[in-house]
Amino acid sequence: ETAHLATLRDLPAETLNGEKVTLKANMELPSELAVLMGVGAEGVGLLRSEFLFMNRPDLPGEDEQYEILRTILEGLNGTELTVRTLDVGADKLTPQFGDIKMSDPNPALGLRAIRFSLKMRGLLENQLCAILRAACHGPVRILLPMITTCEEVMLVREILVDMMRKLKRRGEDLPEKLPPLGVMIEVPAAALAADALAQVSDFFSIGTNDLTMYTLAIDRGNEQVAHLYDPLHLAVLRLIQFSTEAAKRAGIPVNLCGEIAGDDRYTALLIGLGLRELSMVPLALPRIKRRIRGLDSAVVTRLATEIMAMTDARAIARTLTAFNRDLE
Ligand code: PEP
Ligand code: MG
Repeated sequence: ETAHLATLRDLPAETLNGEKVTLKANMELPSELAVLMGVGAEGVGLLRSEFLFMNRPDLPGEDEQYEILRTILEGLNGTELTVRTLDVGADKLTPQFGDIKMSDPNPALGLRAIRFSLKMRGLLENQLCAILRAACHGPVRILLPMITTCEEVMLVREILVDMMRKLKRRGEDLPEKLPPLGVMIEVPAAALAADALAQVSDFFSIGTNDLTMYTLAIDRGNEQVAHLYDPLHLAVLRLIQFSTEAAKRAGIPVNLCGEIAGDDRYTALLIGLGLRELSMVPLALPRIKRRIRGLDSAVVTRLATEIMAMTDARAIARTLTAFNRDLE
């Protein structure tokens, strides 16, 4: 089977009826570069920049961040790198900010991700400067975690324009245009306001890990309620569908980068819901590609319509399982 998956590397990820799906990799460490190129990923859909801040007592400066991003871009052979700005807080802790969790009774609802970055403005500015400079070395997009309002996006865009000016004054090499600025759809508010967010964002990436947690009010790290954590819950599926359609109506790209993107039990449904870009842990990519190559887009669209009309979670799971079994 491994040999078969390896031969998939150079085949396109397209459905039986020729619809192209873009498969990208999620990346947490620069050392994963070889693996993700090896499986034929078409760029990085999610670089979790938290890794830059881990396993060290101090903070990485602009130059250091720039060098690392540049090295990654040089390894990507001209494919696109989507850098997510720092996502700390809640389940993601780095030693420099160790006291966030301690001082916060409800970290998942607290000073996390973009909220943290907008408070620690200097850190965000450094990170944006590093990304802007790296953008001279290959195609880059900037992705903002845990967005809930349009104002947050507009504010970051202003800061981005300011940083571009600042770097220009400093005489740095810069890209001609601002890189696309996109948002994670990972909080119900963002999904429900996706049509508004699409007016101020250049692309979406749907983060079903957090979207499931926040929609169902299930802590993704709490074992006592783990059995209730279900990305197939109708509420989560509706939010995925609504944000995907909002992006399409607005004419902006939409990616899905939660763990379900790399789980072939969900692939038929995600394609049926209209997604054409998935970003996943690199080693899952051949399997997802194989699954896509066995799908017909009209058939999975009907499957998605059928599933979205169901009210019983077990019926949804059963329908999907039966559909996948018939494919094997
Ligand atoms: C998500 O929430 O789905 C996501 C991709 O981001 P992370 O897992 O890093 O929170
Ligand atoms: Mg997330």
